[in-house]
Amino acid sequence: RYRWNRAVEVVRGFEKGCATPTERLQRVVNSLAVEMFAGLASEDASKVRMLLTCVDELPDGSEEGIYYAIDLGGTSFRVMKLELGSGSMVINKKVEYRPIAEELTKGSSEDLFDLIASALKNFIEREGGKDEGRALGFTFSFPVRQASISSGSLIRWTKEFSIEEAVGKDVAQCLNEALVRNGLNLQVTALVNNAVGTLAMGHYYDEDTVAAVIIGAGTNASYIERSAAITKCRGLLTNSDLTVVNVEWGSFRPPQIPLTPYDICFNVEKKRNHYDQAFEKMISGVYLGEIARLVLQGMAQESDVFGSSVNFLSTPFIFSTPCLSAIREDDSPDLRVVGRVLEEQLKIQDVPLKTRRLVVRICDIATRRAARLAAAGIVAILQKIGRDGTLCGTTNVRKIRGEPKRSVVAIEGGLYQGYSVFREYLNEAVDEILGDEIASTMYMQWWIDIKWIKKWIVRYF
Ligand code: ADP
Repeated sequence: RYRWNRAVEVVRGFEKGCATPTERLQRVVNSLAVEMFAGLASEDASKVRMLLTCVDELPDGSEEGIYYAIDLGGTSFRVMKLELGSGSMVINKKVEYRPIAEELTKGSSEDLFDLIASALKNFIEREGGKDEGRALGFTFSFPVRQASISSGSLIRWTKEFSIEEAVGKDVAQCLNEALVRNGLNLQVTALVNNAVGTLAMGHYYDEDTVAAVIIGAGTNASYIERSAAITKCRGLLTNSDLTVVNVEWGSFRPPQIPLTPYDICFNVEKKRNHYDQAFEKMISGVYLGEIARLVLQGMAQESDVFGSSVNFLSTPFIFSTPCLSAIREDDSPDLRVVGRVLEEQLKIQDVPLKTRRLVVRICDIATRRAARLAAAGIVAILQKIGRDGTLCGTTNVRKIRGEPKRSVVAIEGGLYQGYSVFREYLNEAVDEILGDEIASTMYMQWWIDIKWIKKWIVRYF
């Protein structure tokens, strides 16, 4: 039998489980802000690590020269060359994307770093450049215990990486050794994660940038904190008043948002790093399509809305987040794109319009929860640094003086850049959480200036 109602029930159940009404999001904001305070007070006091970055100065647009950089953090890695002129001017930029074969994400660290080093070597040769004594920027987007601006040990892998012997190693040193093995005369002089790199980039273009958010394969954020607020290392690490903190918010588990049976954390047997990274697994690009696939699979188990051709639906990760966004953004009256994606990706043919609508709804629900949670994360940071318009922190002073303060949040990542509905939901939720009252005050209207900027990298010397 067709059992349409059962299919609808699956979707309704998912929708209910993913509900993020404003007041619940406000509580998520408060919980995250509390975790952030705890993470600054002591190591291991919070799921949110609040890692120190050793970055206490950010570029201001006056930097000049040619720089090379490596970016490793997700499905591919990037090699790049930048030529900077003064006045926030990027004279030349060359970026190359290289895929990372899945076996390399589970093999040996030597193989992984050799791959990167040899790609860099080829790149430099093709660019006709010299590596002579050059400094290298290394964006490494996994949790690292930073020992200095140019060194740090891997705390653990996230996303789909799991090279166990690399945990605890200095990843900059691993890359340096691979550079030597590959005959390159370069050295890592700055090791940052992508959230910190994006903050640097934002600050390079706009000095009002206070925080950066990554919404790509994974999700994370960084922001500029008062050094005095970092009580776990009071006065030890920096002479500067300000320090960049890497929030590592992917591991936050919002207590107000229950996991649904379709959330990845529940599918223990299929996943590495299970139960970790709840926030990341509800928000980011590696997982969003997979959540939708699990709901589709649930629907296929409960009903026969997809007929009998549902074998592919049981293959983990076969339904990617770009597929999900293509479905959600299909605005053709007969949902042609939805039909095509189902056919091409999942080999499910001739899905009736009514069922296609249900599929769109599933993709919408997963997107909406993800974008709204990310919005709550952003507001939590603004709250933590007193830029959320409430009467706390340094903003008081500015309000009294009547000086409105811009706060720019640099947002970067393939999911955010490639998916306009996600952006709309996120922006809408930020306004919503901040509330009409605050959003409509003269301060708020131009305090919060959320921008998205393309990926870039900045290094420090
Ligand atoms: P990373 O730097 O962490 O590898 P990226 O910033 O390149 O990640 O983002 C890649 C992620 O963005 C992928 O996981 C993919 O799912 C997601 N993504 C890319 N393009 C789109 C799109 N058009 N719609 C939805 N998600 C997208």
